[in-house]
Amino acid sequence: MMRRFQQQSGFMTIGKNKAKIYVDDEVSVRFDDAAGVDEAKQELEEVINFLKEPQRYTRLGGQIPRGTLLVGPPGTGKTLLAKAVAGESGVPFFSLSGSEFVEMFVGLGAARVRDLFKQAKEKAPCIIFIDELDALGKARGIGMAGGHDEREQTLNQLLVELDGFDANVGVILMAATNRPEILDPALMRPGRFDRQVLVDRPDKTGRVDILKIYLEKVATGTDIDPEKIAAMTAGMVGADLANLVNEAALLAVRRDKSCINMADVEEAVERVVAGLEKKNRLINSEEKEIVAYHELGHALVAMALPGTDPVRKVSIIPRGIAALGYTMQVPTEDRFLMRKTELENRIATLLGGRAAEALIFNDISTGAQNDLSRATDIARSMVKEYGMSERVGQVYFANQQRPAFLGAMGDAGGQYSDETAKTIDAEVRRIIENQYDVALTILKANRDLLVATVGRLLKDEVIKGDALIDLAKSVNLAKTMDDSTKTGVTQQKMAA
Ligand code: ADP
Repeated sequence: MMRRFQQQSGFMTIGKNKAKIYVDDEVSVRFDDAAGVDEAKQELEEVINFLKEPQRYTRLGGQIPRGTLLVGPPGTGKTLLAKAVAGESGVPFFSLSGSEFVEMFVGLGAARVRDLFKQAKEKAPCIIFIDELDALGKARGIGMAGGHDEREQTLNQLLVELDGFDANVGVILMAATNRPEILDPALMRPGRFDRQVLVDRPDKTGRVDILKIYLEKVATGTDIDPEKIAAMTAGMVGADLANLVNEAALLAVRRDKSCINMADVEEAVERVVAGLEKKNRLINSEEKEIVAYHELGHALVAMALPGTDPVRKVSIIPRGIAALGYTMQVPTEDRFLMRKTELENRIATLLGGRAAEALIFNDISTGAQNDLSRATDIARSMVKEYGMSERVGQVYFANQQRPAFLGAMGDAGGQYSDETAKTIDAEVRRIIENQYDVALTILKANRDLLVATVGRLLKDEVIKGDALIDLAKSVNLAKTMDDSTKTGVTQQKMAA
């Protein structure tokens, strides 16, 4: 019973909580193990030089930056880079996670922080790495009423330690977060985490380099082309790519093959993108039909609109828990800028699923929840961040976090009047409604094609390859489209 208790609650491990500070005396990770993050590497180069030859820096009386904050989405290699810094400089690596602190009993968190710094000083030069700094370092006063006592105590202790230690001793502090905006500003003051390094999602070349690292570790067939795989995986981070190569290897093993081929990778991409294939999941035939119309709704709208990402696959094979079907659109290249019409087209495509349901069944289902949320996000950003609504104007209204000293409770919201808030809401609604009309108009013009293709999709469960190209050719794009965008524009002018 004790053992079970231990496994379930983790409660018993508290007694030996020191074990949760991980120390790695000899880190084997090197800079070459991380790819696609060249800028971050450059920034960290200096830290390594310092750890290798501290005298060179201190001789001139210079101060080495104390804390480096690695900022970026999960899985981009922040932990990996921190470890590589330790590995390259040959110093011990202390690591712990901010979220572990918060789960601890009152008083323990602060004690652990003290403990950590004490241990680290004894082993200097070394690196202390705090993962998920945001769990611990959330701005004080935000969140639960009265704050989170334990977290605040721990954070205060961390600040005390940060101020109290001399970086020239050789203890370098690194931390990672994907939410720098919620960190307590006190953490970012000079002498604390005063240097931020962005570890962003890799671009296509970066993905090629990361893929090469992982493909080298497995047996690959001659048809494997990292460039092609990188083109299919826009938006994926290093962790996804590592996982992808692993999935492909597992698939190849399952097929009793001696090496991985492109086909395995392609299937692995789908798995990683949409969760694991669950062919055996039961959905009744009525649901299946709804899903088929819904997915083809997305696909036909995307095909009818110029400049949308090409549709690569339409499937009604359920994947993972949430997705009943999916339409895979793969961008042909990485994008850094998007035009207004492209954003509108994207919204129309997202709404195509629901529009198809409404058109055919005169009824709608819950299946569009995620589409609606994504469409609304885009529309909201258009109005509040990109100045793409004439009525609201070229102003930036995205939510800003109020600094903690102003006593913000949670998200203070954007700084605008109630009137503006109303206009913003109305504009978001207008954009969505217009694009819904666009989607509906397209589907009406393609109704016969939609019905015929659904029959086929129900039979085959997937439409891809040539069949998809044929479908795209028969879509009626024509002027239905042009007209509706034009009306969109005129309506907007009139409203303004
Ligand atoms: P983060 O700390 O940013 O959430 P991690 O460093 O924990 O991400 O990444 C998890 C794993 O994903 C790493 O151990 C590594 O295998 C892989 N990975 C992530 N980013 C990269 C990268 N840039 N290059 C190579 N591998 C990466």
